[in-house]
Amino acid sequence: MSDRSVPLFWRKSKQMYNLIGSECITCGTRYFPGRRICPQCRKEGQMHEFKFSGKGQVVTYSVVRDAPEGYELEVPYIVAIVQLEEGPRLTTPITYCDLDEIFIGMPVEACFRKLREAGDHGIIIYGYKFRPIKGAKPN
Ligand SMILES: [Zn+2]
Repeated sequence: MSDRSVPLFWRKSKQMYNLIGSECITCGTRYFPGRRICPQCRKEGQMHEFKFSGKGQVVTYSVVRDAPEGYELEVPYIVAIVQLEEGPRLTTPITYCDLDEIFIGMPVEACFRKLREAGDHGIIIYGYKFRPIKGAKPN
């Protein structure tokens, strides 16, 4: 089965699961989520899939105490902007981390977990979270 015949949702979730984005061969810029067109190179840009290592560090964070529907069981939790080693930034929940443990510059890595159960239907949504890399020194 070719990738094109797979419904968009599943292609997207595969990319979310594996932290697959894109890289512009022309200028070397990497994107997550992936893009089809490099905003810097436009027509000259040549994009291909790029798999990120999942390692990065916390750029900024906030503690969520008032959760949206579906997240009630987990409050309070930490949401951070993480800069991946390869460049792009993403917003992600932080797990396995006490609220007073997190700091800006903390080394983190992606782990893939159940994010939430949606409503009465029990639909389980999976995706990435990040967790501290134990013993790693901040840069
Ligand atoms: Zn480019």
